[in-house]
Amino acid sequence: MSSHKIAVIGGDGIGPEVVEAGVKVLEALTGAEPGLAFDFKRFDWGSDYYRGNGRMMPRDGLDQLKAFDAIYFGSVGDPDLRDDITLWGLRLAICQGFDQYANVRPTRLLPGLTGPLRPELGRQIDWVIVRENSEGEYAGAGGRVHRGLPIEVGLDVAIFTRTGIERIARFACDLASSRTRKLLTVVTKSNAQRHGMVLWDDVVREVICDYPGLTVDWMLVDAMTQRMVNKPDSIDTVLATNLHADILSDLAAALGGSLGIGATSNIDPSRRHPSMFEPIHGSAFDIAGKGIANPIGSFWTASLMLDHLGEVAAAHRLMVAIEAVTDRAEFLSPDLGGTASTAAVTAAVIGALGFNEPPKNRRRAV
Ligand code: NAD
Ligand code: MN
Repeated sequence: MSSHKIAVIGGDGIGPEVVEAGVKVLEALTGAEPGLAFDFKRFDWGSDYYRGNGRMMPRDGLDQLKAFDAIYFGSVGDPDLRDDITLWGLRLAICQGFDQYANVRPTRLLPGLTGPLRPELGRQIDWVIVRENSEGEYAGAGGRVHRGLPIEVGLDVAIFTRTGIERIARFACDLASSRTRKLLTVVTKSNAQRHGMVLWDDVVREVICDYPGLTVDWMLVDAMTQRMVNKPDSIDTVLATNLHADILSDLAAALGGSLGIGATSNIDPSRRHPSMFEPIHGSAFDIAGKGIANPIGSFWTASLMLDHLGEVAAAHRLMVAIEAVTDRAEFLSPDLGGTASTAAVTAAVIGALGFNEPPKNRRRAV
């Protein structure tokens, strides 16, 4: 089998720390999975690159990335630069430039972790949130005029298109259909936003008609937050807009134990462009450089990437190793209440890659 070409963009803060840990794990995985091979290429793009070049990535950055099979990303964000510059200059430039319109965020309470919910409730978390990743509230349309005057205006226009809604609804329905419970919750706010969100409801409803095997329910986004906390077992696959899913998925990560374990994929389902895989956390200035960032989110992300690349056995093996490690208190990092360093968690996961016991829990990446 030919090797997978992976573009590695560590970015800022703890991004490079957790992504390099992930590369080590992926390299170790090639020793355990016959035929698995990677060709990694690193890109030093991000806030330091910006200080040297006045841009977050080169002008032809997307051209440089387009020949890769996948992008393995850390995070962007710098205490001395505006967040809208760093985010739009790199991460959103890639997501939008490559039309990675499906953002997928699985959440489950991994073995050994407790999370903030009562134990019997926490154990019932097994969700995947599908976030529309190309338009909606983060379409980037808007403007700011009359700067500095009392009449100054700032506008962000949420854009909902029939094409954009239809394709993400189809993606979510396909994903929900592939999961055991075949249960989809559609999140909306069409009571208050009566144009774009009503179109969202109408188009999603049309798409759902093509999936008679699915059970579908609808939630207003505010009510969805309390359902996630109070009745986690009533949720399986969730479809939501760019902004709504952004917020709900941080709540999901916290309910799953820590922001440090959440994983995300930004997918171009047409496969015309490479998809991008990243932990959901940011650059975490408060712990950067200390060697204590939790790399589990980055490893789970790597498992999602393997699934996307068709390396299902390797994705499974990596999830088995991750779950074997989270189940051992001595390998928990400080955000999970332990004392293990990034390096110690990484070594433990590498050590567990050969672990072949029959699964006692689910090992799916999604
Ligand atoms: P953050 O995720 O960086 O940090 C929030 C808190 O969680 C911090 O206390 C941090 O120490 C902790 N944390 C996060 N990841 C952790 C890990 N792997 N291990 C242990 N603890 C971890 O969010 P923030 O503070 O809101 O943002 C910091 C910067 O990151 C900002 O510039 C923001 O714009 C950026 N950001 C980028 C992305 C991205 O690149 N996708 C996502 C979110 C935030
Ligand atoms: Mn977010």
